[in-house]
Amino acid sequence: MKSLTKHYIDGGFVESHGREVMDITSPTNRQLIGRVTLGDEEDTRRAIAAAKRTFSTFGRTTKDERATLLRRLHEAVSARLDDLTAVMIEEYGGVAQFARLIVQSGVNAFPAAEKALQEMPWTRSWEKTTVTLEPVGVAGLITAWNANALFICLKLASAVAAGCTVVIKPSELSALQTQVLVEALHEAKLPKGLLNVVTGRGEVVGAELVRNPDVDKISFTGSVAVGERIMRDGAATMKRVTLELGGKSPTILLDDAALDQAIPAALIMAFLNSGQACAAGTRLLVPKSRLDAVKQAIREGMRAFTVGDPADPKTAVGPMVSERQYERIQSYIRKGIEEGAEVLVGGEGHPEGLDAGFFARPTVFVNVKNDMTIAQEEIFGPVLCVIAYDSEEDAIRIANDSRYGLHGAVLRTDRQRTRRVASQLRVGRVVINGMTDDPQAPWGGFKYSGVGREYGEYGIEAFVEPRAILE
Ligand code: NAD
Repeated sequence: MKSLTKHYIDGGFVESHGREVMDITSPTNRQLIGRVTLGDEEDTRRAIAAAKRTFSTFGRTTKDERATLLRRLHEAVSARLDDLTAVMIEEYGGVAQFARLIVQSGVNAFPAAEKALQEMPWTRSWEKTTVTLEPVGVAGLITAWNANALFICLKLASAVAAGCTVVIKPSELSALQTQVLVEALHEAKLPKGLLNVVTGRGEVVGAELVRNPDVDKISFTGSVAVGERIMRDGAATMKRVTLELGGKSPTILLDDAALDQAIPAALIMAFLNSGQACAAGTRLLVPKSRLDAVKQAIREGMRAFTVGDPADPKTAVGPMVSERQYERIQSYIRKGIEEGAEVLVGGEGHPEGLDAGFFARPTVFVNVKNDMTIAQEEIFGPVLCVIAYDSEEDAIRIANDSRYGLHGAVLRTDRQRTRRVASQLRVGRVVINGMTDDPQAPWGGFKYSGVGREYGEYGIEAFVEPRAILE
């Protein structure tokens, strides 16, 4: 059993001033696997002070100096890819096949940020005016538990590229994963005080970052409720904010789609990261005329979504991160049934033989109306709603009839038609024919899915201020 008692402040591991100790429980078998001492306001203030000191020099570094640091970070994190994957499986219950992809995306964030750094127009001049992009200052990076290494690496890479120093507040549910990652980041030998990491509760460490006047920017990944609070509380010190929040993403299956390819792709997007993914395609919109065939294809396709030990490479859906998350999913499944949706696959309770951990049954609802709770609220678990539509216009209307606007997908055969549909979705990113990624493409949401963007130049822009000099 591991015991974590230190934070990473000013270039080294230092004992926590905060005294609260939290147990770390395996989601796979509920056994105690570690204990973490949580940081408090004092730890946070020490970290902010270190970041502020270092910003006075790091904020003036050249593009090439920052590119060198990004290369060192890439090397350091790459070297721990296996360890980071193993600890994501152990602490979070991420399935092996997906955990490695997530960690790899985190590793890739550094070269992607370097590329964007090299290509961005840092200076623009015309007539008597010169505009330069300046780092915004000290950035507080607050992250969620469902892809710890990715969120931290992504935000850190953009901040370093911009010339910002950082204090990271990872989710308290990711303490073991954070420890391995910070050990890796330490090997990059960054200037002291550039990177600081304090694990603690949101309402303690996170709140201090949001209210502290020495923090200039908050980049947050998490729920809408906390995002709203950060925006409100951050206003008192005029914080710049980037908010990456929830989703209820539509997957539109057009009537010309080949079901043998489209349904497996739709199911992969729905049950991504065991359904605990902001981008999960949890509303599958299908033409009424093809509903029966779709139901049959889903029943067959769901056989591939085996639930079980996340370390087993054949497992597609692992446990939920915590008992609370498991209970949340159960309550939504009950709500769906109460509101008149029909369970096609799955349902309440644990899958057979899997009651030792927080395993939920991957569930597909049919006869779902878009105004039902299960179609409107983010469940953040393996629950898919199938909603029937009448026409292409109807599909677009239903897709956009959501307070969220993070992600969407279109499954098709006709390219022109797909583009026409994709371009009418009020979401930050649309993928065609299945999940795919591009580390230079912006990531972020319309509406309640957030404010601002991450990845590539868009991600770096979130950490800079333009300054104009007029002669
Ligand atoms: P959460 O909002 O509960 O917590 C996120 C982080 O905020 C944690 O580190 C938490 O400790 C901290 N926090 C809590 N209260 C705070 C406060 N008052 N001040 C400052 N920080 C505070 O979210 P979660 O349960 O960890 O994550 C799940 C949510 O994250 C889902 O809604 C999901 O959609 C969203 N998410 C979004 C993206 C994206 O890129 N858009 C990615 C992953 C997850």
